[in-house]
Amino acid sequence: MKASASGCASGLANPLPWAKSLLDHAKRVVVLTGAGISTDSGIPDFRGPEGLWTRDPEAEKLSDICYYLGDPEIRKKAWRSRVESPAMGSHPNAGHHALVALEQRGVLHTLVTQNIDGLHQLAGNTTERVIEIHGTMRFVRCMSCIYRVPMEEVMERLNAGEADPDCPACGGILKSATISFGQNLVLEDLARAERAAQGCDLLLAVGSTLSVYPVAGLVPLAKHSGAKIVIVNGEPTAMDSLADVVLCGGIGELLPSLIA
Ligand code: NAD
Repeated sequence: MKASASGCASGLANPLPWAKSLLDHAKRVVVLTGAGISTDSGIPDFRGPEGLWTRDPEAEKLSDICYYLGDPEIRKKAWRSRVESPAMGSHPNAGHHALVALEQRGVLHTLVTQNIDGLHQLAGNTTERVIEIHGTMRFVRCMSCIYRVPMEEVMERLNAGEADPDCPACGGILKSATISFGQNLVLEDLARAERAAQGCDLLLAVGSTLSVYPVAGLVPLAKHSGAKIVIVNGEPTAMDSLADVVLCGGIGELLPSLIA
């Protein structure tokens, strides 16, 4: 039987106790997070109702490696959006802290995040347990050589007036250490995430539309390996039909209640 809250798929009127009971019986939990867990920290998501791409479909080009490498104007826009983004100065919220509590209970095996904001580690989740499958905005790398520095160093150059800073080592194109559309994921990270999904007894997906592959594929992988699936999101996701429980609502309230 499947449970969900109103607003998402039909089911039990109050699925929270059911989700809590699944979590209480789980010994090896994999958590998969998306942009929705960080909106309460002031970082907008992309595809949510108020998402950056929902409001401005052109903004998607900033996350496409072909446009980024081929068009200096796109790079300038991408760097401007980094400077203006609230992400660098943001702080973890109640949802991030709830996942730290889950780790402290001793059942969190791996936290796979699609987010690039570093807030899980800032909240206190162990770095080794976190897989940043789409990279991190906390570092900048050169696309031609091994140059890699903290984002703050490039921010200083941007704030000093450079619009499209180049690599001081080789003159190459600089880019945040994120993985854009058209770039390969780090195979080792993906393999680790897949092994974790195959070996868990509960997968908790939080704040993602679950529509970006191959990460979204972790949900069916876990399901077919026998894990229970719990989804927490503010609107329906592409994987709700696979879930044992769907909790539909604000992550900042639901996640602490689920994990408390
Ligand atoms: P998405 O933008 O596709 O979807 C986010 C989902 O979370 C939506 O369904 C939205 O309705 C829901 N949501 C937003 N705030 C919520 C809240 N407070 N409570 C409940 N639900 C909420 O997210 P995605 O699929 O994770 O993102 C796609 C890509 O965008 C990711 O790969 C990621 O790299 C990137 N991204 C990262 C950040 C970040 O690091 N914080 C922010 C934006 C986008």
